[in-house]
Amino acid sequence: MQWTTHEVSNQVPELHDYNLFSSDCVLVSAVRESAAGWYLPELARLGAELGRAEILQLAQLADQHPPELQTHDRFGNRIDRVDFHASWHHLLRLQRGANLHALPWSQPRPGAHIARTAAYYLQAQIESGSLCPVTMTFAAIPLLQQEPALFATLREQLFSLQHDERDLPWPDKTSMLIGMGMTEKQGGSDVRSNTTVARPLAAPGRGQPYALTGHKWFFSAPMCDAHLVLARTEAGPACFFVPRWRPDGSKNAILIQRLKDKLGNRSNASSEVEFQDAYGVMVGEDGRGIPTIIEMANHTRLDCVIGSAGLMRSALVQALHHARHRQAFGLPLAEQPLMQNVLADLALESEAATRLMLRLAQAAEPGSDPLERAWRRIVTPAAKFWICKRALEFTGECMEVWGGNGYVENAPMARMYREAPVNSIWEGSGNVMCLDVLRAIAKEGEAYKLLLDTLLDIAQAHHGLRELIAELRTDLALPAAQQEMQARRFTQRLVLVAQACLILQGAPATIAEAFINSRLDAESGRVFGTLATPLVAQEIIARAWPR
Ligand SMILES: Cc1cc2nc3c(=O)[nH]c(=O)nc-3n(C[C@H](O)[C@H](O)[C@H](O)COP(=O)(O)OP(=O)(O)OC[C@H]3O[C@@H](n4cnc5c(N)ncnc54)[C@H](O)[C@@H]3O)c2cc1C
Repeated sequence: MQWTTHEVSNQVPELHDYNLFSSDCVLVSAVRESAAGWYLPELARLGAELGRAEILQLAQLADQHPPELQTHDRFGNRIDRVDFHASWHHLLRLQRGANLHALPWSQPRPGAHIARTAAYYLQAQIESGSLCPVTMTFAAIPLLQQEPALFATLREQLFSLQHDERDLPWPDKTSMLIGMGMTEKQGGSDVRSNTTVARPLAAPGRGQPYALTGHKWFFSAPMCDAHLVLARTEAGPACFFVPRWRPDGSKNAILIQRLKDKLGNRSNASSEVEFQDAYGVMVGEDGRGIPTIIEMANHTRLDCVIGSAGLMRSALVQALHHARHRQAFGLPLAEQPLMQNVLADLALESEAATRLMLRLAQAAEPGSDPLERAWRRIVTPAAKFWICKRALEFTGECMEVWGGNGYVENAPMARMYREAPVNSIWEGSGNVMCLDVLRAIAKEGEAYKLLLDTLLDIAQAHHGLRELIAELRTDLALPAAQQEMQARRFTQRLVLVAQACLILQGAPATIAEAFINSRLDAESGRVFGTLATPLVAQEIIARAWPR
């Protein structure tokens, strides 16, 4: 006997088979007008590929099947291996094929950083955990290029477009991934407190072999073929290239103690490890390990910005799709005035994040222009603070657009919400970023002045923006302790001014006015959906997601 208790109705159809690139008018126009115009066809191809139902399913699977640590084989030998679900490897194959790990290094040409940023942004809309080793590899390459002898042996595997999941010494593989190990139990932000030591195995110094003893408390993607690790020599902290296998073909003594049980980023393995005389080669100068490894940070921090902007875009698209299909009180949610205010406000925030991300990618292009240096060195950490933080509230609000369906784990909203905090924590947490902004301004005073002058030129017609820029100048006259205390306030202001100017330059006037009026309005901004001029909301929403 069959019981019919109810019919399923007013549930929103799954969103799939859409082009992530061509449906994003802000991204398309910004890339078209940039030096990366040559990459448009590849982005259109990638956007269509990533929007396929099968790929979206892989992201869900990778999150639902976290990696598993195998410390020993069945005979009792240590193997320290992490097994990943097939979906993880599929996602890495996609990223590798798109050259997200190396594009500007292996194919240097004008616009290469912007091209890679746009592609990474598309990938970040699918799954975040698998981006971690790709980012680390990307950031490690310029550092390794400064060690010509070592780099010559790594080049082919680093630049390869194929993902090779085999656990073998890297010279026997077609490609390799690089991770990074700095954080210890007693300190992550303050890496000067590191206690891991390195003992020379021959003559000391750059390019020489060492034995490392100690631990790392967070060591992501332990199946990477090598890690850049911070360890102390007699001269102070130094940076080491520590491969998973020794040159004689034996397993290096990096013992994986356990995997972290994480809130999000679950497809990716983050581990605790111990080094027991692990083999490593010194990279950079002895005693200069912190500046050496921090060189990677400008790249990893920009990737955190791109990752969070991608997460926001993805959550926005899902929210808009849902609101257009779900009816309540006789109308689609997207036609309810208060929901329109929420969606439009979210769309403005997402556009501001995307524009700032692309501007920072432009500044990452090679060159020593002081204005570009200011964007790169001062605005990148500021954006890392702000955009990664905004992603937290943003994904929560988008989840709420879905109502109760947003809160369950068999749909993407919960995963995005769990994913959001990590970009704000790793690679320098929020406060550390704001303090870095102040440090960078102290070092790059002239470049900072030039940046403010440029922003002022763009903002001439806006009294409120002009006042904020004036405050950005006068704040630097405060005593150091007060500046430090107010570093978040200062950084927030700097980012809002930068975003407002980028929107003024690139977006239609109505969009720019809506962004500036709301972000400068003291009563807006504590939650999304408080635009004072919601009349333009429909225009903003239609532009954000045309489907
Ligand atoms: C999922 C995940 C993966 C990770 N993978 C890696 C990895 O692969 N390699 C690696 O090396 N690390 C990794 N990390 C570690 C991460 O980089 C650190 O957690 C982070 O740098 C913060 O360090 P901490 O945890 O020791 O916190 P702490 O340094 O103790 O900081 C705690 C808080 O204090 C704040 N703070 C610190 N100093 C100041 C100050 N002077 N003034 C005001 N506030 C301050 C920080 O902003 C932070 O909010 C990972 C972390 C996570 C969550």
